[in-house]
Amino acid sequence: MGNKAYKFRLYPNKEQSAFLAKCFGCSRFVYNHFLRLTTDVYAESKKSLRYKEWAKLLTGLKSEFEWLKEVNSQALQQTLKDLESAFVRFFKKVGGFPNFKKKSNRQSFRVPQHFLIDNNGFLNLPKMTPIKMVIHREMLGTPKNVTIFKIPSGKYYASIVTEQDIPHAPLNGDKIGLDLGLKEFAITSKGDKFENPKYFQKSLRRLKIRQRRLSRKNKGSSNRSKARLAVAKIHERVRLQRQDYQHKISLKLVSENQRISAESLNIKGMVKNRKLAKQISDVAWGNFLTMLEYKGDVYGCEVHYVDRFFPSSKRCSNCGYIKQDLTLAIREWECPECKSFWDRDINAALNLMLFSESKIPLEEGKFTPDQLVEILGMNRDTGSGQEATGAA
Ligand SMILES: [Zn+2]
Repeated sequence: MGNKAYKFRLYPNKEQSAFLAKCFGCSRFVYNHFLRLTTDVYAESKKSLRYKEWAKLLTGLKSEFEWLKEVNSQALQQTLKDLESAFVRFFKKVGGFPNFKKKSNRQSFRVPQHFLIDNNGFLNLPKMTPIKMVIHREMLGTPKNVTIFKIPSGKYYASIVTEQDIPHAPLNGDKIGLDLGLKEFAITSKGDKFENPKYFQKSLRRLKIRQRRLSRKNKGSSNRSKARLAVAKIHERVRLQRQDYQHKISLKLVSENQRISAESLNIKGMVKNRKLAKQISDVAWGNFLTMLEYKGDVYGCEVHYVDRFFPSSKRCSNCGYIKQDLTLAIREWECPECKSFWDRDINAALNLMLFSESKIPLEEGKFTPDQLVEILGMNRDTGSGQEATGAA
């Protein structure tokens, strides 16, 4: 059994939009409330609150804020489960610390059950009249949950997750290391390279013109909200282009391989650098790894993370020789020990694979990111550790 998500456009009427706004608001309120509470309680008592405690406290919160009772209560419980997943990702070092949800970002809530698609193709949610939905492709499997979301440009979507039988990848699928970078978006240990399309940078000029126009409009004017919409549309286009690109690569990787080893984003984050910040957000590695994980679940491909730093580009993956003088400018080199000839990124990807399979002694990667920052005096802003990003 595997899960698959289908995304369809929703066209709520005025009344439905107003109710959806309420649902988004309540979900955001509950998420932020318990995130703040959990952070505060931890700071005071070093005790971690989790879903079990939150769910109990939610009842009290609902009697304090009556309007929370107007929306589907299962959606609110689901919000707590999503918060729990965000913490789990953080502790697994796959994601950053959970962020507060903002009204200006994508708005969403999830309905875990009691929803259905009627014969007219309308989406029926608890406490709401049926919403018009455009089903542009056939949906297979049994629907399990639906996430309703609204993007900043004002469009509504439903993402429906279904459970279905999907053939798993052959068990003799390959094992690869995957190096994510800025010069190339992704490099595999098999030698495949995927270019970095830099969608954001390509729209930068247009975006700047639009933003300048926006800044000249008077606050509260209708021209200002039009200008804001124009800016949001550019962002949306970039996001869709990027998403499309990442969907294609992630699908190819999980369907051809049985195991993928990549560096955890904690390691990548360590080498964050102010000059590269825009480029790093443009490649959206986090989104990509999330895609690999959930598609991996469906296609039977495990995603492993290397969460310890080791000089993956400088180490000869054949004999272990460390080339100390390897600078970012050197793209290819020959190992003086075993005479292997390396493309630096493919060598790095090979090292990631070997390390995650414990074929490299642990002491070679003995430092956690925090230790390394301490030992090398590496500053997260100076980017003195560019080595590991493969950025050049
Ligand atoms: Zn060598």
